[in-house]
Amino acid sequence: MTRPSVFVSYSHRDASWKAEVVRHLKVWEAEGRFVVWEDHSIEAGEDWSSKCLAAIDRAQVAILLISQDFLSSEFVREQELPRLLERRDQGTLSIVPVIAKHSAWQELPWLSSQEVRPRGGEPLQGMSEAERERTLVAITNEVAARFEEGLDRGGGDMGKIVGIDLGSTKIAAGTFDLTRAGDEFKKFSPYVEKVTRPTDEIKILDQVEAVIGKVLDKDNLARSDVRGIGIAAPGQVTVPTGTLLFGPGLGVTNVDFKAYLEDQFQEVEVRVDNDARCATRCELHYGVGRGSENFACIFIGTGVGSGLVIDRRIYYGNQFCAGEIGHSTLNLLDRNSAQPENQPPRCNCGNRGCLEAYVNGPAIVELAKKTAASWPDSETRLSQLGESLSAKEVAQAAKDGDPAAIRVTREVAELLGHGISNYINIVAPDAIVLGGGIMKGFYQQMTRHIRPIMNRRCLDPLRTTKLARARFITHGAVIGAALLFHKSENEGLWA
Ligand SMILES: [Zn+2]
Repeated sequence: MTRPSVFVSYSHRDASWKAEVVRHLKVWEAEGRFVVWEDHSIEAGEDWSSKCLAAIDRAQVAILLISQDFLSSEFVREQELPRLLERRDQGTLSIVPVIAKHSAWQELPWLSSQEVRPRGGEPLQGMSEAERERTLVAITNEVAARFEEGLDRGGGDMGKIVGIDLGSTKIAAGTFDLTRAGDEFKKFSPYVEKVTRPTDEIKILDQVEAVIGKVLDKDNLARSDVRGIGIAAPGQVTVPTGTLLFGPGLGVTNVDFKAYLEDQFQEVEVRVDNDARCATRCELHYGVGRGSENFACIFIGTGVGSGLVIDRRIYYGNQFCAGEIGHSTLNLLDRNSAQPENQPPRCNCGNRGCLEAYVNGPAIVELAKKTAASWPDSETRLSQLGESLSAKEVAQAAKDGDPAAIRVTREVAELLGHGISNYINIVAPDAIVLGGGIMKGFYQQMTRHIRPIMNRRCLDPLRTTKLARARFITHGAVIGAALLFHKSENEGLWA
């Protein structure tokens, strides 16, 4: 859930008073109670007034610094104030008017009916420094107390979050109330829509917008019920701008989800992250990561995705690329061979010999076909399955004791074990969590072979690093997309 925030409404002529108030609020902000929205975070060229109004919509408490300048400011009078009072009347915003300087505030009906600070309405200006300091501390404590009251009510005014998981052939979506207990999400089943592979920016934005509309209809929600939209995108994401830079599976580059959807869904904040990191976020809050300070998730499907958690926070690293174990190089042999067929297999990233090139679904099927071809037909059923052979069938055959399938499983698991051991030796996480479609059938079969490799390859104290199976096999990314609005998220990233 979005961290609760305070909005300070003031005239620019009272900037020094605003700085005083914010200085006190920052003490509580440092304790993680709430964040203070600051207008200086708006960059040159951005639309200042719409950012201000959006911040009002997100705030739960607003402090109004009353002075004659404040009351005569055109922007305050015509834009900020109507919005503040509207939200107050809806019961979603608590207003604390603070009389900063002498003014004719008693003449205004909306204000004279409201309790003002300091009590009695004597302005801060003219107080002794010690008295002013005491008054500001009292006001700040009162603001903090109003948040506590709001949280006691279950934060019900925080609104719904829409989570979206983008795939190349389907989009999964759900609406979430993040104040509910985590265990309820185990039963969650998303709305799924089959789509054609988008391949261009306009098409994918249309598809996502349409799916959001449908999931809101399905859950009987209006657009105004939504506070945030989280998107899990398959590929490289620039998190602060909410841009999918490169989505190879979707066939798109530079898709500005945040800019587009925030424009379509006014007053709704949009956050975007890589899908594997979203699924990792789900394990962090609701899954097997709940008891770990540091862990890495590896999701194996048609590709290999991963997410890294350090000190219970998603770790992004430079350019939001941390933890991509799939592109760690496992094989350098024959890389310069004149015959391409002797070179290590090509990875989706363009390089050869990456871990992903060996352990993804299609690579496992390829290896199974090759292995079956060198096996007597009577001894393996893999050869009978022929061209339509799937990774799921290989996993089942291995479970049933098929020797060729067992050989394939072992070979892939050992490569994965080497990749995992490298990762453990560098990052030293408490646990490695394995998930994704391929792990559905292979988890038990593979960990049997991964463990001995870890025993050989990991540094001695790290050999007992926990291996765990992801709790959320299929819907982790949708839930994790909504969790981009979890209260523990680093608000600064999206500011
Ligand atoms: Zn690669």
